[in-house]
Amino acid sequence: MTDLTKKYLETVKKRNPGEAEFHQAVEEVLESLEPVLEKYPEYVETGVVDRLLEPDRQIMFRVPWIDDNGKCQVNRGFRVQFNNAIGPYKGGCRFHPSVYLGIIKFLGFEQIFKNSLTTLPIGGGKGGSDFDPKGKSDNEVMRFCQSFMTELGKYIDADTDVPAGDIGVGGREIGFMFGQYKRNTDKWEGVLTGKGVGWGGSLGRTEATGYGTVYFTREMLKANGMSFEGKRVVISGSGNVAIYALQKAQSYGAKVVVVSDSNGYIIDEDGVDYKLVKQIKEVERKRISEYVVHRPNAKYVDSTNPWEVKCDIALPCSTQNDIDLPKAEFLVANGLIAVGEGANMPCTNEAVKFFLSKGVLVGPAKAANAGGVAVSALEMSQNSMRLEWSFEEVDTKLDSIMTSIFQACDRASKEFNMPGNYVAGANIAGFLKVAKAMKAQGVV
Ligand code: NDP
Repeated sequence: MTDLTKKYLETVKKRNPGEAEFHQAVEEVLESLEPVLEKYPEYVETGVVDRLLEPDRQIMFRVPWIDDNGKCQVNRGFRVQFNNAIGPYKGGCRFHPSVYLGIIKFLGFEQIFKNSLTTLPIGGGKGGSDFDPKGKSDNEVMRFCQSFMTELGKYIDADTDVPAGDIGVGGREIGFMFGQYKRNTDKWEGVLTGKGVGWGGSLGRTEATGYGTVYFTREMLKANGMSFEGKRVVISGSGNVAIYALQKAQSYGAKVVVVSDSNGYIIDEDGVDYKLVKQIKEVERKRISEYVVHRPNAKYVDSTNPWEVKCDIALPCSTQNDIDLPKAEFLVANGLIAVGEGANMPCTNEAVKFFLSKGVLVGPAKAANAGGVAVSALEMSQNSMRLEWSFEEVDTKLDSIMTSIFQACDRASKEFNMPGNYVAGANIAGFLKVAKAMKAQGVV
């Protein structure tokens, strides 16, 4: 680590104490940027990096709501508007009890580079709450979402900041929040993405992150003379990203044997039944253990570590820091060839370094899971034009965006003499576009 990286990191740690995930995300990006800042010292001299490490603004607010027993509950809401150099702030909202400022900031920081990589005009932001939708009635979720939006709505609009979904925020939550925004402002505008088809949502948005992760991984494998055909795949998670990664990987001839949730995982040596997972998790909102009731040959394992099952390709699609060094060592010892990060920061920095040192291909989150936000940006375009594109049109655009993201990562990794290191390639390509815009726009 250079002295300059150390200096930046010290400032970030001092200014943002206790925000471990944010520190981790910053460290990973800064390390990759060392050769870039050597080649382009103007980004240091003009304070581009200092400014990039400090969000434009961080909003925290009270979210009071009434539960089904008539009792007042209080949660905390967040929106971090990180950087709008290349377009309006854009990034999802996460509802999960683990949410605090450090999680939202790590996600918002990553989002800057991810959005830049999509080639579309969107800046970086992220939001959420420590609210847990699990076990709540639809009416409770609605009252929470309405209260959340009543406050958040003061800081967003279609040209300023456009939130979307993330963990715990799907079509139901987006619907309740959109309804409240409309009611409070009297405006029908594309202020949120991930809306329902028929009222401003884009066909293909639900599938986009999972499909996109597989498109990126397909390109990465292809560039190294391999494919999904006949490969054994383990997926963590069974939510939005996992379900569509599962479907797309299978369509390319992969054998997906594991999916998980926060309680345990199922292993199905005949290949996981995509429709059944979708029914259990998306429609019935039940636990993944339910899977074995319908597929007696499958096994449910009461363990939060699906990475104890050997595979050729790992698609972590649940949450951050899912694969640490010991899990990475196990996977490599058992023949792992590639990782496609569907979730945000699912591998620790130590795990990523280990994978790269062993020649395992790594598709980093900010590139591999950029398909969701890319189609969100396409949803914004459709809303502005008052048009609706077909599923095929959107999916074709998604495929071509993911292919060009892979090419950008590949090019940048080669330009800075790290061929095959798509982690560094993604950070560099994402950074350069934003840095150029920030420099051109002066010290703001
Ligand atoms: P969902 O809420 O739909 O699904 C999340 C899945 O991960 C569930 O199976 C959940 O299990 C599991 N999970 C959540 N937290 C934990 C945890 N702490 N430990 C173990 N398992 C956990 O979320 P998404 O599929 O939308 O998001 C998954 C990841 O992808 C996140 O990292 C998100 O930031 C990222 N992402 C999502 C995008 C999108 O478009 N949705 C876009 C880009 C990135 P359970 O059912 O038990 O809660």
